[in-house]
Parts: sequence; C-alpha cells; structure tokens
Amino acid sequence: MREPGPSPSAFPDVAAGWRRWLAAGLDLLFPPLCPLCRARLGEGRRDPLCGPCWVRLPRLGPPYCARCGKPFYTFDPDGRGDTGQPAPLSVGLCEPCQRQPPPFTYARAATLYHGTVREALHAFKFGRKPGLARPLGDLLAEAGHAMLSRDGVDCLVPVPLHAAREAERGFNQSLLLARRLSWRWGVPVADRALKRARVTRPQSELSAQERRSNVRGAFVLRRPHAVARAHVLLIDDIFTTGATVSECCRALLSAGGARTVGVLTVARVP
Ligand SMILES: [Zn+2]
Ligand SMILES: [Zn+2]
Repeated sequence: MREPGPSPSAFPDVAAGWRRWLAAGLDLLFPPLCPLCRARLGEGRRDPLCGPCWVRLPRLGPPYCARCGKPFYTFDPDGRGDTGQPAPLSVGLCEPCQRQPPPFTYARAATLYHGTVREALHAFKFGRKPGLARPLGDLLAEAGHAMLSRDGVDCLVPVPLHAAREAERGFNQSLLLARRLSWRWGVPVADRALKRARVTRPQSELSAQERRSNVRGAFVLRRPHAVARAHVLLIDDIFTTGATVSECCRALLSAGGARTVGVLTVARVP
C-alpha cells in the first residue's frame, strides 16, 4: 500500500520554503545593494533600502498646521534638527489656511522633501525602482498611524496619472504607495474612482500660480459610487503647493461623491 501523499494544505509551505531558499541563493550570487547608498543590505534592512538609509528618513511630527500639515518650526536641512523654536503662529492654522481654507479637511506628510527622501522618491519614480513602494509605503503607514485615526478612513484613492504617462513610466507611484498602505492597514483602494482627464505639464517646472491653472479641471470623478459619502484618504508622493491634491479633492467632493477628503503624502516641500 502506498504512503498517503502530503495533504493539499502542505503544498503552500513547501512552495514558501523553496522561495526562501531561492531568495537566499540569489542573495549570495547577487548581493542586493541599497539603491541610495549602494551598501549591501544588512541588519535592519527595509528592502530594497538598507537599514541606515531607512533610519535616516526624517519623520515629521507636531507642531504643524491642523489643516495643511505645514510644520510650525524651522527645519535645519543640515541635519542639526529643528531649532526647537516655535513659529510665531501659536494658533492651530497657518496663515494661508486661515485666509483661504483648502478643499481638503487635512493633509499630512511623513517627512520633508529633502536629502535621503528626495533621493528615494527620485529613484522610485524616475529610476524605475517600483520596489521602493514598500519602505515608502511603510513610512506612510507609520506617519498615518501617528497623525491620523485610520478607523475613520473608508478608502484610499491614489492621485491618478494620465494613461500616456503611466504607460511611459510603467506604473503609477501613488497607486503602488496606496496598495502598500492598504496591505498594512486593511483599508481598500478605490483605484479607478478618479481619472486624469488630460495630460498636464510636470508641476515641478511651474510657479505656484501656474501649478493651479495647470491642473484646473484635470481630474474627473469617474466612479462616484466607489466613494459615495465616504471618508477618502487621497495618496500622493509629494505635497508641494497642494494644487494637485486640491484639484483631486474638488473632483472627489463633486456631486454624489465623497463626504470627507484627507491627504497623506510621503513628503512635503518645507
Ligand atoms: Zn542605503
Ligand atoms: Zn495650513
């Protein structure tokens, strides 16, 4: 009589074991290098980032504007940290938010767009390193955990790219970040809720005023039912003037759409 074979439930374990062996073998043959500092990934690695680069990503914390998240202190980019001097504004809102409140209820960023973070985001988007969505998405999860109440969030909406630009890059960086955050938090991604209706010029080349007109009317709410009466967390890589996320927010809040829109980005321009 033949021995009974392994039960079907044993196969995934065998496959996972092989995958681990294969990964270890590949690591030996081609030691994985950090895309930022080219060091070998060792202890504390956050693939594909090495441990020291992960630790070097500076985290933002309070005090900041309750609405747009602008930090209320002077940041010293040379690494000596903040000066500890509170800004003259001791109220909860920064001056621009008091003058003209943005359409989003709140915006938060995990870190400032500087140094290691700028390199990481640059490698992610332009260096075709989609694997960086893992540590950068983890940074979003960490920041969101510290600064937001995720219980209130119904779904994540990534800032869409125009189909032509997404085809050229091969991926939408905001969607990869949203997927990682979704996996960490267990909150669904409403991927196709928003659509970029036309190609816009890269915002990085433009002044604040040009940025606003560049993206005006660029987004449409394609699937209102996906976000109807929901608290949406809009996901993007960088918050600069807030022009892009504000325009997305207007589309999300249009008739039949979201109830509340908050914004979470990896970095913000100081
Ligand atoms: Zn590194
Ligand atoms: Zn503000």
